[in-house]
Amino acid sequence: MSEVRRTPLSIEEILEKKKKNEALTSKPKFLSRKEREALALQKLIEEKKIKQAQLDHASKTDLSSKPQERERLGNSRNGGHTNSSYKNQKPKVSEPSINPEAKLLEERYMGITDNNRQKKKRRINSDKKFVFDWDAGEDTSLSNLSAYVDTVPRSQIEENRRRVDELNGIKRKTLTDVDNVHWSEKPLSGMKERDWRIFKEDFNISTKGGSVPNPMRSWQESGLPPEILATIKEVGYKEPSAIQRAAIPIALSCRDVIGVAETGSGKTASFVLPLLSYIIEMPTLTEVTKADGPYAIILAPTRELAQQIEQETKKFASRLGFRCVSIVGGHTIGEQSLNLQEGAEIVIATPGRLVDCIERRILVLGQCCYVIMDEADRMIDMGFEEQVNKILDALPVTNVKPDNEEAENSQLMLKYLGGKDRYRQTMMYTATMPPAIERIARQYLRRPATVIIGNAGQAVATVEQRVEFVSGDEKRKRRMGEILNSGDFTAPVIVFVNVKKNCDMVARELNRLGWKAVILHGGKSQEQRELALQQLRDGEADALVATDLAGRGIDVPDVSLVLNFQMAKNIEDYTHRIGRTGRAGKSGVAITFLSNDDQDTFYSLKQMLSESTLSKVPDELKRHEAAQAKFVTRKAIQ
Ligand code: ADP
Ligand code: MG
Repeated sequence: MSEVRRTPLSIEEILEKKKKNEALTSKPKFLSRKEREALALQKLIEEKKIKQAQLDHASKTDLSSKPQERERLGNSRNGGHTNSSYKNQKPKVSEPSINPEAKLLEERYMGITDNNRQKKKRRINSDKKFVFDWDAGEDTSLSNLSAYVDTVPRSQIEENRRRVDELNGIKRKTLTDVDNVHWSEKPLSGMKERDWRIFKEDFNISTKGGSVPNPMRSWQESGLPPEILATIKEVGYKEPSAIQRAAIPIALSCRDVIGVAETGSGKTASFVLPLLSYIIEMPTLTEVTKADGPYAIILAPTRELAQQIEQETKKFASRLGFRCVSIVGGHTIGEQSLNLQEGAEIVIATPGRLVDCIERRILVLGQCCYVIMDEADRMIDMGFEEQVNKILDALPVTNVKPDNEEAENSQLMLKYLGGKDRYRQTMMYTATMPPAIERIARQYLRRPATVIIGNAGQAVATVEQRVEFVSGDEKRKRRMGEILNSGDFTAPVIVFVNVKKNCDMVARELNRLGWKAVILHGGKSQEQRELALQQLRDGEADALVATDLAGRGIDVPDVSLVLNFQMAKNIEDYTHRIGRTGRAGKSGVAITFLSNDDQDTFYSLKQMLSESTLSKVPDELKRHEAAQAKFVTRKAIQ
């Protein structure tokens, strides 16, 4: 790129020339202080004129096209640092010819055609800051701002923001007197500490850990590259969810993340999008490099969850031309090995099966430096700790972050390490925050930033929770019939039971009531499970009867009712169960049948119901002896 670039005379060169001319015409003489000052002033004015002229000229010139920039990023991984190659870039003299690849990309993602291409105002690409001498009032005119430039080399995030603004023809306001304005009305640069505090309160975001970047106010400002923003638009996510607002900027700064948010709050996209932004910067996988394995792995506790993550990831990844493969039990090893042979940037896996593939040498993790653990607490609960360890041991050791505050410094962590490596980034997502999570975080994560949306373990705010004391299977079946025949609920509904053998009993009753039921529990084969979920999603089945296996992460849209035919054994599982409804901002109802066998959960259940604005605590629960003190305390007293 550099050989073909023509540059205009730099300011220094122009000044140098001018100085020489002056030196030739003026005889050496003693200058008084006043004279020196006058001369300096004159010089300053002239300097400004030159800068202005250069800037006017530059604002008319075009930018280097995106794929070239992408190439620049790719190259920087194998050579110099992004910023250093960027620094030397100067405005071009002539309108550059438009790279056909860039043209296609623009037409496809941004709707920029030959007709409207010229109309888009572009900012110039330079590292020199121009200080405007304007009145505060002039700020609002905005027209001069198309050519503003930075002093400091831009970070990738800022660079992405700039590209996005530019492609959308957006000219940002700079700082004006915005003290009395709500954050939504302010330019990003006008956001004060107080605004961020209000913003975080508005979205129920709290963070822990040093130097945590501010959340993002919109997709535009996320710092995600334009290619990804275009796919978000195509997918139809208008606004980021709270966890996405908080976690994406942290993940983009190469920071380790612990994300805690209620189920159905969009955690998947909050790790998938920064991951894709990382992969975009990596060299494209070739016949040779694909044998070194994926760039990233996502671990999930169950097959269903892994497949769901795969679906959400593919929404974005396939539009960007990246492959992702899921490695889960239930499919033959041969099938999965075949899938892997074609190469994939992202592998989504359950820990057991992934270890299997690593040990059989079907998969290596030679260039993987992005690790995501979804539902991490559950993985540990299910006894996957050893497998998770084995997987992390199979990763290259060269890219492990130092265990000190350097790990909080995004400038350091984003730097290139040699080979294809950047420091390894590890992220952990969960809906509840039991002590086990803190333990594994200490083991695997380096100086993580923790993001908590709402209270950890809090039920989805959009779920109305009702509890009823009904004991005995017969009475419960009758009550279930009344609820379903009330006309208040439409398919799909999910009914939870505690043990496999109850699934059939409840499913039979549902069928008798005219609700076509399918079953999901650990005793079913992979195909059967997948079929059951598919039937529910496609509307071929009206109800799913499931054990807690389906309680975590399973995303079936528009579930109107979760019925706990039996109360979950603990409040975490209960939270996950009811989180199957009220997803993606929709409302839902969860009804739970209680009996005295469930006393261990009464205290926490009462707490949860009283914290939920949509729910009320029935007297029988409120006054119940077991609801007066926490389970552990009660046990200790007895
Ligand atoms: P979680 O992992 O937190 O339980 P998911 O990632 O499964 O939640 O997301 C729940 C649902 O919300 C999915 O169907 C997903 O497609 C949808 N979703 C995620 N983010 C957004 C968004 N920003 N706008 C609209 N829908 C979204
Ligand atoms: Mg999830």
